[in-house]
Amino acid sequence: MVKPDSRPGQDEPAWWFIISSGDILVVDDSHRLPCAAMQDLPLPDLTDYAVAFIGELRERPCYLVVADHQDPNFAAVGEFVNLRLLIAQQDEAMFAVAARAKQVAEFMLTHRFCGRCGVRMQAVDWEMAMQCQQCQHRCYPRISPCIIVAITRGDDILLARGKRHPAGLYSVLAGFVESGESLEQTLHREVLEEAGITVKNIQYVASQPWPFPHSLMMGFTAEWDSGDLHIDPIELEEGYWFPLTELPTIPPPGTIAHRLIAAVKKRHGVD
Ligand SMILES: [Zn+2]
Repeated sequence: MVKPDSRPGQDEPAWWFIISSGDILVVDDSHRLPCAAMQDLPLPDLTDYAVAFIGELRERPCYLVVADHQDPNFAAVGEFVNLRLLIAQQDEAMFAVAARAKQVAEFMLTHRFCGRCGVRMQAVDWEMAMQCQQCQHRCYPRISPCIIVAITRGDDILLARGKRHPAGLYSVLAGFVESGESLEQTLHREVLEEAGITVKNIQYVASQPWPFPHSLMMGFTAEWDSGDLHIDPIELEEGYWFPLTELPTIPPPGTIAHRLIAAVKKRHGVD
């Protein structure tokens, strides 16, 4: 269990997840995270910062430090970059802790006051939660479940371009779970809303925390069942059935979208 009140020791080698405005501090151009004892890093005095123990990575403790935006006190340690740049390293365990760090930092910053009665919240010392001492309202870091699904029709795969995707990049469909829905219901609803089709033979593949800002992507494959492709113009720019042998630019390795597309290609015997 994560004990948020554990403080780092001066000479204890540790991983440092220093978050500022959703960005993470890295120490060099290959986007390595700092891993050293506190006394061996040019860290500022951390007394004034929110610090939380957020787990272990390769038998070393991981500490989250919530820094201010563009905090000059950390310039000697490294620079803040978008967390997406860490995906290229394809280090799933590392990315999972970084995702947790970003989400816990967001949680700490957005739950300083009670949403029910408005007084200041305090961190619970034995679990990752904030509690109101007046009305006892307790909050946990927010996690937003999403489905993401690779749909095939014969040897074709449905890929679409979201409005915020970079030009030329196509991906599989995804959508947020709504209150009261099962994952299967979300999948059928999203696919019908976004593409106008129904699907069958849904299979779970894998999941990935996606800290932009606090999603948990749950990945599936499915097969087309009925309906003509009709892309929803509100959420998507365009979408097509692509032959698995002639794919456009897809999300990079390390993303669950890439993993789902690779799983479908393997199943269909395409390299
Ligand atoms: Zn309260």
